[in-house]
Amino acid sequence: MQTSKQELDQQLTEKLKSVFGFDSFRGNQLEIIKHTLHGHDGLVIMPTGGGKSMCYQLPALMGQGLTIVVSPLIALMTDQVTNLRSYNIGANYINSTLSNAQKREVFQSIENGKTKLLYISPEKAVMPRFIQYIQTKQVDLVAIDEAHCVSIWGNDFRPVYTQLISLLQALPAIPVMALTATADRATQVDICQKLKMKTPRIFISSFERKNIHILVRPAQGRLQQVLAFIKQHRGQAGIIYCLSRKSTEELALKLRNAGLRAAHYHAELSSSEREKIQHAFQRDELQIVCATIAFGMGIDKSNIRWVIHYNLPKNIESYYQEIGRAGRDGSPAEALLFYNFHDISIFRRFIDESEADSDFKNVQHQKLDRIWEFTQATNCRTNLILNYFGEYRDKPCMHCDICTHPPQGFNGNTLTQKALKTCIEAGQNLTLPMLIDVLRASGRKEIYSENLHKLSNYGSGRELSRNDWIHYLTQMINQGFIMIDYTKHSILKCTTLSQDALDGKLNIKLTKPIDPKFIIREVKPPGKNEEFNNNLLNDLKKWRREQAAEENVPAYIVLTDRVLKEIATRRPTTLLDLINISGIGDHKLEKYGKAIIKNIQEFIQHQEILKNVKGQSSLESFYLLKEGYHPKDIAQIKGIKLDRVFDHLIDLYKKGEDIDLQQFISEPIMHEVVEGWRFSGGSFDPAVVAEFIQSPVPMHQIKIVLSIIRKQKSF
Ligand code: ADP
Ligand code: ZN
Repeated sequence: MQTSKQELDQQLTEKLKSVFGFDSFRGNQLEIIKHTLHGHDGLVIMPTGGGKSMCYQLPALMGQGLTIVVSPLIALMTDQVTNLRSYNIGANYINSTLSNAQKREVFQSIENGKTKLLYISPEKAVMPRFIQYIQTKQVDLVAIDEAHCVSIWGNDFRPVYTQLISLLQALPAIPVMALTATADRATQVDICQKLKMKTPRIFISSFERKNIHILVRPAQGRLQQVLAFIKQHRGQAGIIYCLSRKSTEELALKLRNAGLRAAHYHAELSSSEREKIQHAFQRDELQIVCATIAFGMGIDKSNIRWVIHYNLPKNIESYYQEIGRAGRDGSPAEALLFYNFHDISIFRRFIDESEADSDFKNVQHQKLDRIWEFTQATNCRTNLILNYFGEYRDKPCMHCDICTHPPQGFNGNTLTQKALKTCIEAGQNLTLPMLIDVLRASGRKEIYSENLHKLSNYGSGRELSRNDWIHYLTQMINQGFIMIDYTKHSILKCTTLSQDALDGKLNIKLTKPIDPKFIIREVKPPGKNEEFNNNLLNDLKKWRREQAAEENVPAYIVLTDRVLKEIATRRPTTLLDLINISGIGDHKLEKYGKAIIKNIQEFIQHQEILKNVKGQSSLESFYLLKEGYHPKDIAQIKGIKLDRVFDHLIDLYKKGEDIDLQQFISEPIMHEVVEGWRFSGGSFDPAVVAEFIQSPVPMHQIKIVLSIIRKQKSF
């Protein structure tokens, strides 16, 4: 029977809720899923963390047969399969890590229909034996992840991907879904052609990652900035991308010396070492990984809270893919990028010295120009990226540093003229650092050996700091008033615009540096309610850790941080309440529901007891006093120290209870303590006041007198 449109929508939404616990589809997921279920081919372009996997996972659950997922990354495959199994979904993978016995088991499970999703590496998927075998099975869908690898226009071409066509042609009637997070227009068309897709629809989601806050900083004092940033993100997982293997090692060491749990990662490590680091990072045992770009492709960790680019990435595609690894759970995350000319010149050299043909080199140089323009942007950075990927928009994003801290512009004619005059007077022979040294009259040795201190412009820019000069010169270079000659040791030269700038014919606009303080933002102390939730969250995390260890899976496979946070905020106390939390499906409800509720109930009970003990005990002492007992007797009755009884009474007295504390203090002691208080300069710290009292007075008596003074002062 044909189901109506609404019925299908409802069925799919119910499945999404019952299996994954999510209330609604994100973006165009539903549209993509229906397109596939109707038997059509499609190309899905969605940013990392956008929810691509759901597009083939849900259809896989709707059909009778098997869904094949081609995935090039072993770690990702393992992770996805573990994740699906945690929802009680039959999933398996085939790749080079499996033994023959394990492979037999997988095929057995396909035979008896237990496997709904089969992840497979492209190498295995194109083997004639596999193709022959799979033709005898009922296949509902072939999904090809990281589909940009099929195109030479893409960021990561893999020849084996082009052979996938043999698998697809062996399954001619089966819909194909290609998925990728990175493909410009040319790559998109190429993917569809290379995979010979039949009248495919291309689904492009917005590339905006609203939960990622984008920050870009000049690289001066980079290490200090990084340390301050990490301090602000205490205990939160992050990746620092570096340009070279050596710098990953050095930086990780510095971070460890600063007491942080950091490791380095690069292609030169043995595969077991790399696995160990990935594993520790996945399980939150390691907070920070300092890595080359080799790290991350296979990382499916949803709670990465920040990504730092210690060096400039080689293009906008890489940058956006790398920062996309942060905040996949949808909670706020930060991306911090450092730029300097040094990195640019290294990249230029890499490109020039590579074996590639001149067309390819040209493209690489242009891509490098775009990422540099991104670092120098004076308008919304997100829009710049979106425009790059062909998504045109001009409303500010409000989650990049330019939107949240708009740079202040001013007329930069004088500054530019100073720089140009100095540059010209020195024979257009200075590098950028040297020009700054001359402008600021730094007194560096080379200045004297080159006789630069005799220039008339020597010291003409000493009113600005070194960092400010770097900031302004960078803008002058970007606007074309000065250029860097990379072919001659990066010396600065005049351009065709220089003369007009010197003649004052232009209105040069420069912007002031963004205050670095805002990356070292003050962390607000949590409010009472927040503190309560944090404590509950910690309890729940502890439970999750134990559960994950028992199941031998990473903690987020049990439940993600986002789900735990929502539980801690909403504090469900029945299973019915718990099902309303996004991310709890039927299977997880059944598996963990009771334990979660028990944790919450125990926590709340514990809090109540704590609260009562404190309040109750003070009141008891007060009532006993009212009944005529002396504090000494009260201490005995309650089995507590005399000082504690007085603490109770002082506490209530401060809160306004009518208690005559003066009766416990003799005249001379009163006098003595008041004198001590005066000498202390009016301190209300009993220990301080005690220092200024001649003869020994019991601490509780000092406290009483101080609370009496305070009360009198407040009238
Ligand atoms: P991608 O493969 O595009 O990088 P994933 O498929 O890993 O992204 O999805 C990212 C996260 O979003 C996962 O934690 C996933 O469970 C979650 N997710 C996917 N679809 C939904 C949805 N409809 N509602 C809530 N969360 C979702
Ligand atoms: Zn913005």
